[in-house]
Amino acid sequence: MRKESQAMVSNLEPLKSGQAQTAPESENMLEIQNLKKHFPIKAGVLQRTTGYVKAVNGIDFTIEKGETFGLVGESGCGKSTAGRTIIRLYEPTEGNIAFDGEDITRKKEKDLFNLRRDMQMIFQDPFSSLNPRKTVGSMLQEPLKVHGLYKSQRERKEKCQEIMGRVGLNPSFINRYPHEFSGGQRQRIGIARALVLEPKMIVADEPVSALDVSIQSQVLNLLNDLQEDFDLTYLFIAHDLSVVKHFSDRIGVMYLGNMAEVAEKNDLYGEPLHPYTQALLSAVPRSHPREQKRERITLTGELPSPANPPNGCVFHTRCPFVMDHCKEVVPEMQEIRPNHYVACHLYN
Ligand code: SF4
Repeated sequence: MRKESQAMVSNLEPLKSGQAQTAPESENMLEIQNLKKHFPIKAGVLQRTTGYVKAVNGIDFTIEKGETFGLVGESGCGKSTAGRTIIRLYEPTEGNIAFDGEDITRKKEKDLFNLRRDMQMIFQDPFSSLNPRKTVGSMLQEPLKVHGLYKSQRERKEKCQEIMGRVGLNPSFINRYPHEFSGGQRQRIGIARALVLEPKMIVADEPVSALDVSIQSQVLNLLNDLQEDFDLTYLFIAHDLSVVKHFSDRIGVMYLGNMAEVAEKNDLYGEPLHPYTQALLSAVPRSHPREQKRERITLTGELPSPANPPNGCVFHTRCPFVMDHCKEVVPEMQEIRPNHYVACHLYN
């Protein structure tokens, strides 16, 4: 977690869509501007493009060095696609991605070699993300070999065992296969694999949602400790707001490929501004009896298809406060309070 709060300059003009939010440039590990990822829909014998799934449709945010930024939203809101596009597993359709001061948006795969070392990913499912035919040792040593780190096999093995120990795995299990580990241990292998190259940033895509509740907090505590020790920056993607609350410094709430709200976690949980965030938070159980009880807001209707998003505010088909204006005009992201941004016409 960030060692100190880096409050936003409070006299900023409201940000327009397409502008990144917060923090002086030099402090940013990641700057995302108007990022879009659209997937073509193919149909017919000739596989003509008949439309696009607008999975990510113009999002902006920044992550400071050493910060944990939580990206939340319902399943299908585009948060995982955003993570994969940022790490350049997907080609961005539009927008800009700057990583540690360098524009990586349009770099070709052959030029992404260093990025692959500096930005790593932890996947949701520790069962399917590990190769069942490879031992832990070979999975961890492979990236070291590819990147030409450590001269001898003995040194690489020592490094892998050091990392295994660091993530709470017994280093003597280096020759074991994934099926010989429990779910929690397999996710620790996934974390070790992300960590072995000592990256600057990790994109963690729902890293605990496939684990038992009893194991989740252990893995979250481990990620927290590793952040301190390895000076890591995290993009933490989750659908569960209670998980993100304890782990993030700032949080972005996504809905149907768009960013609805971005704020420091205490501001977001204390006074959510966007009707969608309010609805999501009203469903989160109180973690303490003294915590203020929220009135439950039930969203009606289904999440619209990202292939055919509504006009105007994309949330208008489910919003309890919808106005005529909302159905026509896209709300711009504005800074309503210091470091608290929302895209909603209620605040115009
Ligand atoms: Fe609701 Fe309108 Fe705000 Fe969208 S812009 S969240 S429809 S009030």
